Parts: sequence; structure tokens; C-alpha cells
Amino acid sequence: MAQNPESRIVSRDPENLIYAFSPANPPCCEIAPGEAVIVETQDCFCGQIQGPDDLFEKVGWDRINPATGPIFVQGALPGDTLAVEILDIRVLSPGVMVAVPNMGAAGHRITESRSMLIPLRNGLAHLPGDIILESHPMIGVIGTAPKEGSVATGTPGPHGGNLDSKVIAEGSTVYLPVNVPGALLALGDLHALMGDGEVLICGVEVAGTVTLRTRLLKGLSLPCPVVETEDAVYLIWSEETLDSAAEAVVDKSASLLAQTLRIRDEEALCLLSARGNLQVCQIVDPLKTVRMEIPKYLFKGNYPWPT
Ligand code: CA
Ligand code: CA
Repeated sequence: MAQNPESRIVSRDPENLIYAFSPANPPCCEIAPGEAVIVETQDCFCGQIQGPDDLFEKVGWDRINPATGPIFVQGALPGDTLAVEILDIRVLSPGVMVAVPNMGAAGHRITESRSMLIPLRNGLAHLPGDIILESHPMIGVIGTAPKEGSVATGTPGPHGGNLDSKVIAEGSTVYLPVNVPGALLALGDLHALMGDGEVLICGVEVAGTVTLRTRLLKGLSLPCPVVETEDAVYLIWSEETLDSAAEAVVDKSASLLAQTLRIRDEEALCLLSARGNLQVCQIVDPLKTVRMEIPKYLFKGNYPWPT
């Protein structure tokens, strides 16, 4: 999508970055629902890795996973749902990947720490092994403030946060809970490319810009963060283990489908078992995240939100 030069821009300047979702964060700006906003984001290392000599070990932990915001959405009140339409994602070259001994899903195989720059040109990512892949930019961190307390931006949860789900991409709409007035939306941690699982512990980490537009669903509560794409609805949930996350997301999906279609729980579970797809988002964050993909045709046009 062409960026409207009159759209408001939220810069990635340090004063606009947060490291925890919290109702105590003062808003960096205020927007109206329906207004297009361009949000600049830092990479997950906050730009501290610029070359192969900048190893992960020297990165300051106080500057990991910055999210740009929080953005106060006018009219958003607790009990509403905030719909965030992702209109456009642009990434800056190069991306960065790090391999760190004993981190990630098979960290015992990594004998020395390495930082690898991944050039991004013309929509292509140049990966190790002379492999060139199409880039599919996505948002790793997107969330609203919890009702109380604070949640580090590296942790996923019911408020969204570090969901690391590759379906959060251009063209999708993310539904997040409004827990505090203004919702306090923040986002960051773009990936030029990431596979399900994010097994190394990172995607192709990159700074960039996201153009988004919000919509308020007054008085509508969803059971968890939800993503809508052209073809499917995804419910996303995180727990300490993949097993418990999977069981919880199936439970929430069955309940939502049963309510929306006005069918019995076991009938909803039939549909999920026949045509739902349980998918892994990531297995390397403090909680593990899964999603249930429900094809839109199963809702027969009766979505849980007004269309
Ligand atoms: Ca992440
Ligand atoms: Ca990341």
C-alpha cells in the first residue's frame, strides 16, 4: 500500500520505546480509530548488533525487545476489543540472526556465539549457505497494556506481547483486549522471515515501519488474542509448555465456535478436529505459544465480531 504522506508517524526514537507493557507507561501519542498511523520499530536488539563482531553476549539486556508506543486509542475502554489492521510492513536491510551456545531449541549444537547479518534486497533475504528466500515480514511483538502490573515485552500473554506468530503480517487484523482506557497499544520485533517455532531463538530480526489502522469493537471481549487473515481466524495462546498451551487454545476455540454457530461443544470439537489446524508459533520465549487455525468458512459468515 502506498503510504499516505499525511499519516501520523510514531518514530522509533528512544523516548517512544517501552520494554514492558504496563498501565503505568505514559502514552507517546494519541490516535483516533480509523486513522492510519505509521509506526517505526527498532529491531529486537535495539540496533546493538551492527556486524559480526557485535556478539549477543555484549548486548545490554535492558534494551532487548523494544516496542514502539504506547499509543493511546481515543474512546477505548476496558471491556472493548481493539482491532488492529496491518496495512503495510516495510523492513530495513540488513536483518540480524544470532546463534548463542545453549540458547534456543538445540543450543547444545552451537559451540561459538555468532552474529550473522542477513542482507535484504528486493524482497529477498540472503541467508547462510547461499540460500536466497522470499521475505515475509511479520510482527513479533504487538499488544496492549494489562489491567495491572507489567509484562516484559519479551513475554507473550492474554494481552498479546511477544506472540511471534507469522500470521501477524500485512493484510491481517489482530484483535487485542482493551484492559485500560486508551488500550495503550505498542508493537515491535519485526522479522523479515521466521519459521514456525523460531527454533534458533530469533527470526531474521529487523527494524522497519508498520502502517496500521485501528477499530474499536465496543463491549466485545474475545477469549484470547485473535488474528484474522483473508482465509482464516487464528486464536493464539501461551503457557509454560506446548501441551498446556495446545489444550487451552483448543478449549477456547471450541467455546468460541460453539457460541458463534450456536452448536454444542462436542460438535464444535468435531469441526476443529476435522478442519482446524493446531500450529506452533514459537517455543523459545518465556512461555510457549500456539495458534488454532479455523478456516473462515466454518463460521458460515457469523464471525464473533461485527463485519
Ligand atoms: Ca519475538
Ligand atoms: Ca524477534
